[in-house]
Formats: sequence, structure tokens, C-alpha cells
Amino acid sequence: GRRPEENGNYSNKLRDAMISVIIHEIGHNYFPMIVNSDERRWAWMDEGLNSFLQYLTEQSWQAGFPSRRGPAHKVFEYMQSDKSDITPIMTDAESILHLGANAYAKPATALNILRESILGRDLFDFAFREYAQRWEFKHPTPADFFRTMEDASGIDLDWFWRGWFFTTDYVDLAISNARLYKIYQKEEDSKKRAPSTFRNSNQLANKDVQLIEGMDLAFPVTFLEEIRFADQVDALPPAEQKHWKEYDYYYELTIENRGGLIMPLVLLFEFRDGTTEKKNIPAEIWRRNNESVTKVFSLNKEVVQITLDPYFEMGDVDMHNNRWPRNVSLPESRVFK
Ligand SMILES: [Zn+2]
Repeated sequence: GRRPEENGNYSNKLRDAMISVIIHEIGHNYFPMIVNSDERRWAWMDEGLNSFLQYLTEQSWQAGFPSRRGPAHKVFEYMQSDKSDITPIMTDAESILHLGANAYAKPATALNILRESILGRDLFDFAFREYAQRWEFKHPTPADFFRTMEDASGIDLDWFWRGWFFTTDYVDLAISNARLYKIYQKEEDSKKRAPSTFRNSNQLANKDVQLIEGMDLAFPVTFLEEIRFADQVDALPPAEQKHWKEYDYYYELTIENRGGLIMPLVLLFEFRDGTTEKKNIPAEIWRRNNESVTKVFSLNKEVVQITLDPYFEMGDVDMHNNRWPRNVSLPESRVFK
């Protein structure tokens, strides 16, 4: 690596680079020198794990340390590049293309996401420590790592290993549709009235209907569906009716998986009254269909904006399709450059 000038001067950039490389090389005392994986075959098992630990160490050394690898945005340009030019992480080290991205940056980001957004720090750290202790002075293979992380955390992570380690897919989830359903409080003989009568009726004081009239077109409500749904609710057992009557707004979101990698859904709902609510949906939502999922969120407040992956945890490569309604420009801070 580079060294300070002869007179002893060095730039901040050089200082940070030297701190980084020292942290990295010390990490190799553990991976692969103690947890003795085969670097000639699976470069990521020491370089990837070590780059991940390097990132954590750098950030605890100094908050906001300019880490070269670890955060998702450092790797997604690589991940969405021409697929004929990239290989899965699980490629024999002699055949890997782009060793730096493949053996260092991508596994570091994958593990970081697994820790921060899927398992959580406590569970991840417990499982990772278990891997290191179970396999110290032994020769683990990739399957030993995958299995130990699942075994120790008690969480099925097959979908995660498959996507991140065995494919060249990337993360691009999109809110492709959003609909609002409201439970209409039925008046007498309302069934007999055509939807247009509701819409046009002057003397109709029903506030639900008025709200719907003024609603943003991005959340279309069809009256027919609404009325049918109200009828269905009345036909439900009392306990279920209670649930449906407890909430005022039912937002049905359709999320499409355009990049291939399935991920948990982190959704930020912004309400008209200025408050917000974050909802986390585990990746298991994709288990029956890994291309498109639909889910209804029961809420008591009117939503003005929905954002998928609002804090950029998942490494989503295209944030423009993560917002609904679409016609709201993306804050600069969320745009990757
Ligand atoms: Zn290394």
C-alpha cells in the first residue's frame, strides 16, 4: 500500500486507508488463520467475512468512517451490471470475475444486511460467534457457514444464501400498485343504490363518501368493490367483523420483485396528519410467489405517501419505483450517486 511522504506528512485519505488496511490484515488472524477456510477455493470465506468485520470495526473505531466496503450502495452498481460479466459469490476462486467485488464487497454487504435488517444484531452476533467458535482450528466449507448461521440463529436463511451467494440477482423491489379500500357504513337499502348515486348525491352526509371523492387519484377506490366488501364483512363471524370494523383504511399494496433478490419489506407510511409508521414484513412473504406479492395494511389514518426501503437498508438499486404515489420527487439524500 501507499506510505506517508518522506518528510512524514500524510493526507487524511492516506491515514484512513492505512487504518483500514491494518484493521483488515489483523482480521485475517482470525479468518482464515484460526477459522481455517480454504482461500484458494472460496475466497469470500475469509475475504468476505473479514471485509464485513473490517467494516464493523472501522465504524466502531470512528462513527462515519469512510469505509470502502460494507454499505449496500458500494456494491449495487456491480450487482446490476451485465450478468454475462459477473459470477455468483459461490464460484470457485480460480474462476471468479471481479474478485474485489465478488469476494470482498458483495459478501460484506450481504452479511451487513443480514445483521442489520434480517436477523438483528443480537441474533446475528450470537450465530456468527457460534460459527467462529465451532469452526476454530478446523476447516469449514461454505455449507458449514450457512448451516451454522441457521442452526445457531434458529432462522431458515436458505432464501438468503440462495439469492445472495448462488445467483447474480440484485435488489429492485417496486410498489407497482396501491389501492385503498374503505369499509362503508351501510345505510338501509344502500345495496339498491347504484354507485353513481352515492357519488352524486347532494344530501348524502356520509363522510366516508366525501373523503373518497377528494382522494388522491393514486389511490383509486372503486365503489362497487367497496360496497361488495361491506356486504361481505357483514356476512363474517362477529370476531372477524370486529377486525374489519376496527380500521378505517385498508391499503392494498402490490410489490414486484424486478431484480430477482427477495428481501424483507420495510415500508414507511406517511399520514396526512404528519405522523409516520414503519412496518417490517419478513422475507417469507415471498414464499409462494417470488415475483409479485400483494398485502393489505389495516390503518386508521389516511396515507399520503408510502415508501419501500425508506432508509436504504436493502440495497435497492432503483428507489424511484419504491414510492407511491410516484409523482413525488426523491429527496436528494436518498439518491445514490
Ligand atoms: Zn484480505
